[in-house]
Order: sequence, then structure tokens, then C-alpha cells
Amino acid sequence: MFFTKNSIRSTGQLLLRKSFSSSIIARAQAPLDASKLIINQTTTPKQKLPNEKLVFGKTFTDHMLEIEWTQENGWGTPVINPYHKLQLDPSTIVLHYAFELFEGMKAYRDSQGNIRTFRGDKNMIRMNKSADRICLPTFDGEELQKLIDKFLIVDKSFVPEGNGYSLYLRPTLIGTTESLGVSTPDRALLYVIASPVGPYYSSGFKPVSLEATDYAVRAWPGGVGDKKLGANYAPCVKPQLQAAERGYHQNLWLFGEEGYITEVGTMNVFFVFQHEDGKKELITAPLDGTILEGVTRDSVLELAREKLPANEWIISERKYTISDVAEKAAKGQLVEAFGSGTAAVVSPIKSIGWNGQEIEVPLAAGNSGELTKQVAEWIRKIQYGEEQYKDWSRVAQ
Ligand SMILES: *Cc1c(COP(=O)(O)O)cnc(C)c1O
Repeated sequence: MFFTKNSIRSTGQLLLRKSFSSSIIARAQAPLDASKLIINQTTTPKQKLPNEKLVFGKTFTDHMLEIEWTQENGWGTPVINPYHKLQLDPSTIVLHYAFELFEGMKAYRDSQGNIRTFRGDKNMIRMNKSADRICLPTFDGEELQKLIDKFLIVDKSFVPEGNGYSLYLRPTLIGTTESLGVSTPDRALLYVIASPVGPYYSSGFKPVSLEATDYAVRAWPGGVGDKKLGANYAPCVKPQLQAAERGYHQNLWLFGEEGYITEVGTMNVFFVFQHEDGKKELITAPLDGTILEGVTRDSVLELAREKLPANEWIISERKYTISDVAEKAAKGQLVEAFGSGTAAVVSPIKSIGWNGQEIEVPLAAGNSGELTKQVAEWIRKIQYGEEQYKDWSRVAQ
């Protein structure tokens, strides 16, 4: 592989070099500024699909938001353009070395017709952390949220109506330097596209079966599993196919000799254990760098701490293993389990294949556990503006 000189100095060092050189007058990099937005309306509006025809991530709205960045000038003018294909030189750095990161969030139509986003500030913080990790430019998250709000107003008619329906938003940041050198990108493109989506489960929950996966590892200490980098996802598809061949829906990602439970598919995962003293424990893995910092995960934890009686419940972020789960199940003390993420909010788990045995997970509420059902409803009400909780729901204007 060919390494350029740039590859051995970070952006920070570059800036330092510039500031020490009196002959170069450093031009200030422009910050991301939502007030500069330009809107180019489409002249060929798309036909909208009826709700029942919506397929996740297959169709997109009339427009997209785009902002270019250069090392020299910083963030350029934000533009909402008609949805279009990107034109990239075959040497573009994103296509070779995966300078790509993304976010996943949703916009919901409330009963007054307002369009709301859910805890977008958390997505902005996470997006900046991902960007920083792969030397792509960071930005003021509030400015991008304002731009997303404007984009939502422009394509408002695409936000479907109805419980469980929403507009999935995909903020994306790519390095666009045209060069095969492995180096800090000096050009980047931030764009946001939007896809109208239906409920993850069209008729109630569908509990999933998992295969505990130890032969492939999703994330590791010191790695980047806690960042939403595109490079983390392609390698997870083959183990998922292999699990599917054996009749399982998803991978339960384990880590290490001990078999620590980390995540399920592309979701965080929660278990409920019954303890001997009568208390129940809601448990999920701690944010130790191998766990994606899910906005849904954080919301589940906060709402559980707020709403569940403290004398009956323990809410834990701690390490636990697949053997712990098997042991609890054998004693009849495994209460329920679910995955959490923006796409499905919560996804009930019915069984886990591990070590030649099937761990059955109870579904006390029919298609899920009781808490799973409750959590889904707490979050849904806030997302659709039926209940106000702190500043978690933001009306686009
Ligand atoms: C996006 C993602 C999640 C869920 O995050 P949310 O913010 O709740 O949508 C969990 N795990 C992985 C690996 C993810 O990519």
C-alpha cells in the first residue's frame, strides 16, 4: 500500500505547522452555518407510495441535504437539492479506505401534523465522535439539527401518518479526496437522505431467535465498535447469513473466552433476571468501547430508572455472560430479553442457540415480555408527541 506524507501527520499537527509558519496566513475554516441554507426545489416531484407499500430504505423523498467541506475553507454553503446520484472519481478515498460514517434517526408526524425528531442531539454528538475517529471534519450539532428541520419541512409530505410510521433519516459523512494515498481527507461531503418507513412489526411484535456467535467478533477493546462507521457493518453480514442457514434470525454477539454478551445484530440488548430476594434486574452491557452508544439504549435505561419502582427493580449497566443467561434460564429466573434500536425501538427475543442447547426466553405478554411491551409504549408516546419528556422530542420548524 502507498502511504503519503500526510498519513503520518494528523490534522492537528498540520494546523500546528501552519501556525508556526509566519509566511502562511491561516485562513479561518468556516463553521457549519444553517443560516446560509439554499433550497433548490425539485421540478419533478415523485409519486408517493401508499403506507402499506413502504419498504425500509428503498424509496427516498424528493430532496437531500448536502454540505461540502474542505480543509482550506471549512464548511461550505448548506444546500437542499433535488435527490440525485453522487458523482465520484474512482479514486475517491471513501471508496478505498472506508472514510464513511452514518447516523440513523427518525422523524414522526404527530396528531397536529407537526414533524418531530427524537433526541437528535444525541445523534449529533455520536456523529461527531465517529467523524473525529476517522479524521473527518466535526461540526456544531445544533446547526445540523436546524438544517435537518428545514429539510423535514421541505419534504414534510413524505412523513407518513399513522402509528409506527415515520421518516427514516440517514445523515452520512464521507471523505471525498481524490487520491489513493492513505491520509487525512482534505475534502468531505455531509449529506442527509430520508426514506419513509412503516412499522418494523406490521401486526404486533415478532419475537426473534438468536444464535450466540463466538467464532466471529463484532467489536473489541480499543477498536471502533462504539462508532457508527460503515466499515463495522459489512463484515457482520456473513455471520448473519450463517446464523440464518441454521435457522436463526440474528447473531447474539459474544466477546472473549468468558462469552460476554455485547449486542444483538445491529441493536443493543437487554435481559431481565429474577433475583432470589424478589427484585428484578434489567441488565445491559456497559459502554466499554465495544458497545454502540444507542440512543434507544440510553432512553430505555433512563425511563426504566425514572418509572420502575426502585424497591422492585435494579437497573444495571454491567458485564454479564451467556453462561449467566443459561444459568438463569435453567433456574426459571430468566424473565425476558429484547434488542433496542431506532428501527424497531425494541425487538423481543424468544430463544438463543448456544453450545448445542436452546435457551428459551419467556414471552409473558404473548409476543414479548411485559417490560418490553411497556418500554415500547413509553418511547412511542414521546416520539409521537403524545407525552412530553424533557427535551426529547423536537418539532421541526
Ligand atoms: C445504531 C446501532 C445501535 C442502536 O442505536 P440507536 O441509536 O438506538 O438506534 C445499536 N448497535 C449498533 C451496532 C448500531 O449500529
